[in-house]
Amino acid sequence: MGRDFHLFVDGQWIETGQWDEVKDKWSGEVVGRLPVADEATVERALEAGHNATNTMAELPAHQRASILEAIADGLQQREEEIATMIALEAGKSWKYALGEASRARETFIFAAGIARTLHGETVPMDASSAGEGRFGFWYREPVGLVAAITPFNFPLNLVAHKVAPAIAAGCPLVLKPAGTTPLTALLLAEIVKNAGLPKGGLNVIHGSGRTIGAKLVTDPRPRKITFTGSREVGTWIKQHSDLKRVTLELGNNSAVVVDKDTDLELALERCLMGAFANSGQVCISVQRIYLHEEIAATFTERFVTATKTLRVDHPLVKESDIGPLISPADVDRTHDWVQEAVAGGATLLAGGQKLSDRAYAPTVLTNTTPAMKVSCDEVFAPVVVLETVPSFEDGLRLADDTDFGLQAGVFTSNLQRAFRAIRRIHAGGVMVNDVPTFRVDHMPYGGMRASGIGREGVRFAVDEMTEIKMVMIRE
Ligand code: NAD
Repeated sequence: MGRDFHLFVDGQWIETGQWDEVKDKWSGEVVGRLPVADEATVERALEAGHNATNTMAELPAHQRASILEAIADGLQQREEEIATMIALEAGKSWKYALGEASRARETFIFAAGIARTLHGETVPMDASSAGEGRFGFWYREPVGLVAAITPFNFPLNLVAHKVAPAIAAGCPLVLKPAGTTPLTALLLAEIVKNAGLPKGGLNVIHGSGRTIGAKLVTDPRPRKITFTGSREVGTWIKQHSDLKRVTLELGNNSAVVVDKDTDLELALERCLMGAFANSGQVCISVQRIYLHEEIAATFTERFVTATKTLRVDHPLVKESDIGPLISPADVDRTHDWVQEAVAGGATLLAGGQKLSDRAYAPTVLTNTTPAMKVSCDEVFAPVVVLETVPSFEDGLRLADDTDFGLQAGVFTSNLQRAFRAIRRIHAGGVMVNDVPTFRVDHMPYGGMRASGIGREGVRFAVDEMTEIKMVMIRE
């Protein structure tokens, strides 16, 4: 049995008397226990965050930057321990868990840079005759208390994408990590505490989204909700958050279009990673691949062969490519969707079986229709659809025929076709000669349409956690 953790409220580690167990998603063994926040604890966290508003806002930029750098150092020192926790509680294969830990460190370093350079502009007031004799400037003020709600699939880096910009902006934060993966966030809280963040600057609570999450959304104290998770919960938050600022980072059914004259080796290697990394549980996992008919047979044969070599194993086995899904219910749901596609006429080229009640075989389908769930819904599992199209433009049309709009990828060596793709695909990001799964942590990242509202990527998240204040001085 793993260690006991505590919630982090007002700079203190607290218990509530009620405990929850967090399990290794492959073996079902207990990784650790943590308290469930009761009503009084949620109230304490909100009050502590609210009371820290001025302290955080008045923290000088150099101090915010130093704290962020100290957190980055702490993450580096504890990288292996943190990667192990990610591998166990999220079921993420070691190579990806380690990648997540090092990316989070970088996210804090980017935030330190933003903290030091955040600034406004002067306004040439006398450009208007009414502005003569006046001096004007605007700058950014922290919005106040931020409520952050995060999903299971990146238990560190998606938390980092909320904690780091909040500190850079000078906002206190109440964080509710996903119920299945809260322990990594508590390891981060230990590092944040040691880095010297003022008490109340970060508060981490644990419990059900429906009660605790909903309380954070509806309480008047948070001025900003930053949410990463499913479309359904995001929609609920938008409807219940009154006039608060809201950032919603939601799902996708990401598409890739592969042109005839392109580097097929590169496309194959990147699509394989994009489809199956983290068992397909990434908001920008490759789910639909549209192949120009001239290369479709070769690509399909090689992709299927490579899929069959992937190792499904415990995430801590260093050679593991694919780990478990987050829950047995998700294994069942995935299998239902695949069976439904096959019953509707789709052809199974690889996988299509439950390997246990926790793991699903990497699965490749073809001859699907756009209306099948494996194509039009977010599958969030190691399942990918390959379809042949007569032209690159047909591929673009199908890629864009979706409610979602987070990121898409195209592989082509033709510049005109690349620009056509950039213009025709309605998504927050279009990756040319790479998969939609590509992300570095300082680029603007977020969705159009049902994929969300607003952008993360440290500088952009800071913009959303600050408000512009205009100052006019009459000379
Ligand atoms: P989820 O929506 O089920 O849960 C996310 C968080 O919301 C959890 O902390 C949960 O406890 C909380 N929650 C649930 N109901 C709530 C309510 N009524 N009010 C407030 N909070 C509530 O998502 P998940 O299953 O953890 O994660 C998978 C989803 O996240 C996928 O759709 C994926 O695409 C999306 N995602 C998006 C991004 C992105 O950056 N766009 C990144 C990762 C994951």
